[in-house]
This record gives sequence, structure tokens and C-alpha cells, in this order.
Amino acid sequence: MRKYKYRKIHYHTPYFKLNSLQKKRSFDFYFKKINSCILYLVLGFCLFACYQMIAFPRIYLDGGNFVKVDYLSSYHEPGFASSYLGNDITSKVKVHGEVDTSIVGEYPITYQVSSHGFSTIKTRVVKVVDSKKPKIEFTTNTKKLYICPDTKYLFDDYKATDDYDGDVTEYVKVKQVGKKMRYEVTDSSGNKAVVFRKILYQDIEGPTLTLEASNPLILTVGDTFHDSTYQVRDNCSSDIKVKIRGNVDTNKPGEYERKYIAKDDAGNCTTVIQKVTVFEPSRKGVIYLTFDDGPRSGTTDKILDTLKEKGVKATFFVTSGGPDDLIKRAYLEGHSIGLHTASHDYSVIYSSSDSYFDDLQLVSDRVEQITGERSYLLRFPGGSSNTVSRHYSSGIMSYLTSEVVQRGYRYYDWNIDSRDAEGGRFGADEIRNFVISQLSHDRVNMVLMHDTKVTTMDALEEIIDYGKEHGYTFDRITPTTDMVTQRVNN
Ligand code: ZN
Repeated sequence: MRKYKYRKIHYHTPYFKLNSLQKKRSFDFYFKKINSCILYLVLGFCLFACYQMIAFPRIYLDGGNFVKVDYLSSYHEPGFASSYLGNDITSKVKVHGEVDTSIVGEYPITYQVSSHGFSTIKTRVVKVVDSKKPKIEFTTNTKKLYICPDTKYLFDDYKATDDYDGDVTEYVKVKQVGKKMRYEVTDSSGNKAVVFRKILYQDIEGPTLTLEASNPLILTVGDTFHDSTYQVRDNCSSDIKVKIRGNVDTNKPGEYERKYIAKDDAGNCTTVIQKVTVFEPSRKGVIYLTFDDGPRSGTTDKILDTLKEKGVKATFFVTSGGPDDLIKRAYLEGHSIGLHTASHDYSVIYSSSDSYFDDLQLVSDRVEQITGERSYLLRFPGGSSNTVSRHYSSGIMSYLTSEVVQRGYRYYDWNIDSRDAEGGRFGADEIRNFVISQLSHDRVNMVLMHDTKVTTMDALEEIIDYGKEHGYTFDRITPTTDMVTQRVNN
């Protein structure tokens, strides 16, 4: 077999291999091409820019394209201007977009202007940011953290709030750093608050002491007084001793104070005072003249003259009306000042318990301001048995009659009605007769009258004379006078 011998063939292709001159020419060729390309591009761009500068309206934004405003602040447009070929066309600019500063975020505001068929739009981004740090607060000392001696840190009283995130207490990181406690919290916008409190192993809190008996406690002469049972607790100490001080004499009418003093191991004391009022038993045959709805110039002053002349003390249940001077005079002349509500408006005072006590507070403040003494004597407009209050709030008298006593007041209805408030139906003689015909030596005589009435003013002298001639005594109501109450009907 014939063998073929293969020969390597080298191809010398002339167009793949350039000589140095050819290379240089080729490079120059392409370089020139690229250069002229760039030149045309730049030229084109310049022409476009020039064209735009000349032909398109321009918008200038005061304050720049990016504005930051605080959360919940009010955003005011920083201002803008527009021109076209040197003419002011600011008034043609239409602004679109709104900024809600109650929500953190970015708000684009666009400014658009058109002139001679050319239009330009610019955008400004307003960023609403929460830049306020959260607040870390403590219910106790803000600088010091007190921990019971020989115990570990168990609870804390911090609270963290952020103007944007609200309550961020759960994100507070608490760490002991040496002799300090470190509190750190970061809000959703990254604002970080750090607070330190010095740790003190000390008990500075007094025990809590709660009496189980009613306070004030009301007794009548001859009753037996027992100390209240109580509950006592302390944050650090377990064995708390309670001492009781103060004298109560149930044989003598008056106001007494019984002090309960609880002391913990660290010497912190808590004192609770129980007020004990010992009332005199109702004094039969006594006449309590009571005057409602005043004071009033022209009648109250005449009534005070008569009482002074006859040496008789009475009780005035006042409102917000009339002059202060007459209340002052009645008080200085030894009469009792009671509270009848400020407005005497049934639709107000009997609409709700809050409404009643708000109104009562007004007249109470007035009396305290005039006499320097708070009054705890009450008369309900219409009496506690009134049914008119049903129109405004069902059951309100049942609630109020017990609530006022809970709050330390005493209320006094009447068992003799002079009928002087019945629209002027009765003259002075009839009023006098209504009163004297109902007087009794077998009970307390609580007489309802009104110092706003001329008829009452005229009847008073004869009522007093009759009482004195028939062996009655007159007195004013005091906080130790037994309540005279009617049946509650609502
Ligand atoms: Zn009245």
C-alpha cells in the first residue's frame, strides 16, 4: 500500500496580516470616525440644550427639588417662579400634589407650565419625617430606681411613647450597666432615646393601708365605737405593724379622728385618718327654721333682722344667686349656711350624678369663698322625695341620697312645709298657720321656708313668738344634727 506523506501547509493570507503602515492607516480611520461621532453627539446635545433653553419655559423652585418637613408640622409651599423667553409666567404654573404631614413618607409635588405650545414639568419631593425621639418616662423617680434591699430587680415602671408610633413601651431594652439601669428605645424612623437611672437598694415607699370600715364613720351618742379592720401591704417588708391613735368619745357629740399608722422596716409610714362623727340624738321639740333659694336682697336681710331681734338661729340653703354680703352676714350672725345647688335647675342637676355634683361644687365653692368654711349641709331642690327628677334621670334620687352621705354630706328634708313657695297662693297669715299647726313636742320640727318670699318675711316674727310661747326652742342645723329625710320616690 502506498503511503502518503502529508505535508504541513502554511497559509499566508495577506489580508489577515497587515504591515505597520496599513495598521496605522486603519487606526487613524476608525479614530476619526469615533471622534466625529462624539463631536456630532456633543453638538447635537448642545443644540438640543440651547433649543430647550430658548424654546421651553423654565421653572425655578425655591428651596430646591427636595424638602424635608417634620411629622405633624404644617407644610407651606416654599415658592416657585417661571419664565418663558424672559417673560414672567409664574401665574401660569399649575401645581399638583398634596402633602399629608400626619403620615411619614415622600410626596411628589409637580409644577407644570405651558407656553406657546411648549410645556415643562418639574417635580419637587417633600419628605415628611419623624425626627423626634421617643420619650421614656417613669411613674416614680425619673433619676433614681429604687429596689428593695437584698432583692433583685424584678419590675420597672417605665413607659415609652413616640409622637409617631404611639406606645413603644414593649420595645424598650433595659440593661443594667454598672450601678445604673439603661433604657433604650428606637422608633420606626430610627430616632433613638436613651435614659439612665441610678440604682439604689433602698425602700422609700410607705405601706398601703386600707380601712374596711366606713370613713367617715357616723355614730350617735351612746353607740359603741370599734376600731376598723384594715388591710396593709408593703412593697418590701412583709411584717407591717399598725398603730392606732386618737380619741373617740361616743358620749359626746362631735367630730373625732382616729389615726391608723403603718410603718415598714425602712421606717416609711402611711397614715390613714378615720373620721368619726358622733351625733346628738334628735332633740324633740326643737324647731329648725330653714330658708331655701336665697339669698335675696330685700327679703333675706329683713329675715336676718328678725332672727337677730328674736335671738334665734336658723339655716340658709343657698344657691348661686343673690349678693355675697347676705351670706356673709348670715354666717357672721351665727346661722348655718347649707348648699341647695348653684342653678336650682332640675333639668340640669337631676340629669346625671356628675351634673348634680358639678353644680353642687359651684355653690360649695361660693360658700367656702365667702365664709372660709366648707359646708356639708345639703338640701335637695324639691327634697329627696321629689318625683320631678324622674323626667331627667330614673333612679337618680336613690343614687344621690346615698352618694352624698358617702361623700361626707348630710342632707335635710323637712317635716313641716310652710307652703310659701306655692306660687304666692298663700298670704303671711296662712303661712304662719301652716307652720304653727304642725309643730310638735314629740319630734324634731324641720320647717321648710324660702327667704326669697315677702310673705315668709312677714310671717316669721309670729312663728317665732308662737314657738317661744309654747315651750319650743330654736336651733340651727350643724354637722351633728340628725338628718331629717323623706321617702325617696325616684
Ligand atoms: Zn329650692
